[in-house]
Amino acid sequence: MRTHVQVAVIGGGVVGASVLYHLTKAGWKDVLLIERAELTSGSTWHAAGGMHTVNGDPNVAKLQQYTIELYKEIEQISGQSCGVHITGGVMLAGTPERMDWLRMAKARGRYLGMDLELLSAAECKKLFPLMDERHFVGGMYDPIEGHVDPYGVTHAYAKSAQIGGAQIVRQTRVVDLKARTDGSWDVITDQGNVHAEHVVNAGGLWAREVGRMVGIELPILAMEHQYLITEDMPELRGLKEQLHCIDFEGEIYTRQERGGMLMGTYERAGVPWSERETPWDFGQDLLPNDLERIAPSLEVGFEHFPAFAKVGIKKVVNGPFTFAPDGNPLVGPVRGLTNYWVACGVMAGFSQGGGVGLSLAHWMVDGDPGADIWGMDVARYGDWTSLAYTNAKVRENYSRRFRIRFPNEELPAARPLRTTPIYERLAAENAVFGDYCALEHALWFAPKGTSATEEVTFRRSNAHAHVAAECHAVQHGVGLLETSNYGKFDVTGPAAARWLNHVMANKVPEVGRIALAPMLNERGRLIGDFTMCRVSEERVFLVGTYAAEDYYRRWFERSNPPAGVHIRPCAMQYTGLSIAGPRSRELLQKLVREDLSTAAFPFLSFRRMEVGMVPALVGRISFTGELGYEFWVTTDYQRALYDLLMQAGAEYGIRPFGGRALNSMRLEKSYGNWAREFRPIYGAFEAGLGRYIDFKRSAFIGRDAALAEQAGGGERRLIALAVDAGDADAIGDEPIWHAGKVVGWVTSGGYGHRVSTSIALGYVDRAVAGEADFEVELIGERRAAVRLAQPAYDPKGLLMRA
Ligand SMILES: Cc1cc2nc3c(=O)[nH]c(=O)nc-3n(C[C@H](O)[C@H](O)[C@H](O)COP(=O)(O)OP(=O)(O)OC[C@H]3O[C@@H](n4cnc5c(N)ncnc54)[C@H](O)[C@@H]3O)c2cc1C
Repeated sequence: MRTHVQVAVIGGGVVGASVLYHLTKAGWKDVLLIERAELTSGSTWHAAGGMHTVNGDPNVAKLQQYTIELYKEIEQISGQSCGVHITGGVMLAGTPERMDWLRMAKARGRYLGMDLELLSAAECKKLFPLMDERHFVGGMYDPIEGHVDPYGVTHAYAKSAQIGGAQIVRQTRVVDLKARTDGSWDVITDQGNVHAEHVVNAGGLWAREVGRMVGIELPILAMEHQYLITEDMPELRGLKEQLHCIDFEGEIYTRQERGGMLMGTYERAGVPWSERETPWDFGQDLLPNDLERIAPSLEVGFEHFPAFAKVGIKKVVNGPFTFAPDGNPLVGPVRGLTNYWVACGVMAGFSQGGGVGLSLAHWMVDGDPGADIWGMDVARYGDWTSLAYTNAKVRENYSRRFRIRFPNEELPAARPLRTTPIYERLAAENAVFGDYCALEHALWFAPKGTSATEEVTFRRSNAHAHVAAECHAVQHGVGLLETSNYGKFDVTGPAAARWLNHVMANKVPEVGRIALAPMLNERGRLIGDFTMCRVSEERVFLVGTYAAEDYYRRWFERSNPPAGVHIRPCAMQYTGLSIAGPRSRELLQKLVREDLSTAAFPFLSFRRMEVGMVPALVGRISFTGELGYEFWVTTDYQRALYDLLMQAGAEYGIRPFGGRALNSMRLEKSYGNWAREFRPIYGAFEAGLGRYIDFKRSAFIGRDAALAEQAGGGERRLIALAVDAGDADAIGDEPIWHAGKVVGWVTSGGYGHRVSTSIALGYVDRAVAGEADFEVELIGERRAAVRLAQPAYDPKGLLMRA
């Protein structure tokens, strides 16, 4: 074994082998893979090997496409067969809602270049004769689904990597990792030590343990998973190989395995495996079968596919594999550690392993994953993901693997967990809650005396009229919103402003002022959008996106903040409230001594004030587009402030409003959101944030790239559309058409209640961005959409400045 390497990859499952291969492909040859036993000795060896391209996140779908296309390449390099069977696949819908879901999936596939086809149940039957079409309403055909041989794929990656210069050692267990002061690692194994500049945790079933070696608890959990293989089926004789098939309502997948069929299920009563620790002596073992547990799914399967009921079971496989709470992989550098990378929680190694390896290798070699992998970034989880939280969410995710998640659906596991002091107050107002980073927040308020629940649907729900009432209350009087679920950082010290001027694309405002600031990477791509509030010479209060807190912190750490700046994440130390609407100034003026007139406290002012007895940081700003104020108070004061505002606001008809109304109002103002309109694949000018870049400063991260983007114009543009939507507003990821061609995609959408218009925001090719007429494909129908040349509501922004 080499004793000094550039990278030590821990784990020789399909994911570690893919990372190793992609590192060599990207030019790093001095790389070593360390495997405890033999390659594939974790989840990989007993996988069913199925692969498909469809994924709820289009960016993950793209990487799945890449993975499937990669198999030819590694077969060619290595001479090792991957056992690829591209049979095509059919996804069956048992309900009209599922058919709608398939229509939406097909639409998304358009701008990914996927060749998906919607079929009637009879057409599905022609492709897949084993099904009983009476149980289905239709389906979708994908020509590039199929299955591979897990052993073959892993060895093809491994051999290709070796040909590229990598070394692989087997029967060698990493028992500890020790950080050196220069950021490199001593990798301690039972066969001697290796000094590695970088370490990759691709430990699969043991990734938690490899995380614990460096003091982190990765939010992953293994679940038991069973599939069975039947004896040979007479029905298959003389037929070409059967398609891969997913029966969503039956929660079953099937494919042909030699002369028989394989059937697997994601049963509702899923069982976690090794909840706290994975035993090191678990090798190429299987778990005892538990057919009882999957009996309800099998019964449905036998009904839907009668040939299965007539044939014997040859083999049952029960094996564990890992999931993150949302079912997507965990990839990237871990904040707080130097040169420690993860590629784990990969639940679909044969669809995703290639994309995971590719993006991690790019990230390590080029400093950037090269694709939008926010949905897989390990930094999307923060410290709320305790073992028990992860356990509850992973079980829920597993049990719902084949169920529809409606766009307005909130999932119940691990809730309520984190609440703010006004939680009961909001509950008493009949709030319908959602959770965000495990924190409860009000989505909307049901009329008192009615049930605070929302029916789940792809169309407008029972919330629609009530959200409208909230928007109108804000528009004509005053509304109160909780904003605790925003991310916050207190940046203090003599070097605070200097450092922020280096990291942010806008300059730090004067004391008492607020500035909006995009944050860019060296490529000029958007990696954050902040509100910078200057409290004093040496203090800036930053407001951003809470889910990205670790993502931001990792970036801040990378920028090496100088001595004299202290960055304190304080999202949960400062809770937030906001009031908005034309009466909000009168209301607040009753409670503070300061003069709130526009002359004395104009738009984008920020000041410490006493609101009644409550010390608060107060900003004159609102995401609603109305006159409004935001309050940041330490958590102990939030309830008092809420009560004070509600009591003082009674004479102005104050009413609480929730996240749904806020979303409606920000769409009317064409305001973007992180992770929807603002993501690391877009440039600031593409996203319409160019005006918030201050180029007068000589140096800040991303300056040159942003200048180049400004000069070149970028590839696409964020536009707003008024959509003739019927009763189903856009939600995001729908294709945007122009002149019969797909020219972009929606990033978010909803109904603008103040302007009585359905609105969508989305990116289109720059060449057509100035056109007037577009179409948005909503649930299978191309709906007319007219570009809004300016925000739909108060385009000049007079109301918020009044
Ligand atoms: C029954 C079943 C069916 C499945 N079907 C499919 C399917 O149809 N399609 C699909 O895409 N996926 C399927 N999967 C999931 C798939 O198996 C996983 O996505 C994939 O195997 C994950 O690979 P990995 O490399 O991350 O982890 P693993 O396969 O667990 O590999 C981790 C490796 O790291 C090694 N290791 C860990 N710690 C150390 C250490 N300290 N030192 C040295 N080595 C270490 C282990 O020995 C192991 O070989 C299935 C899984 C199961 C259980």
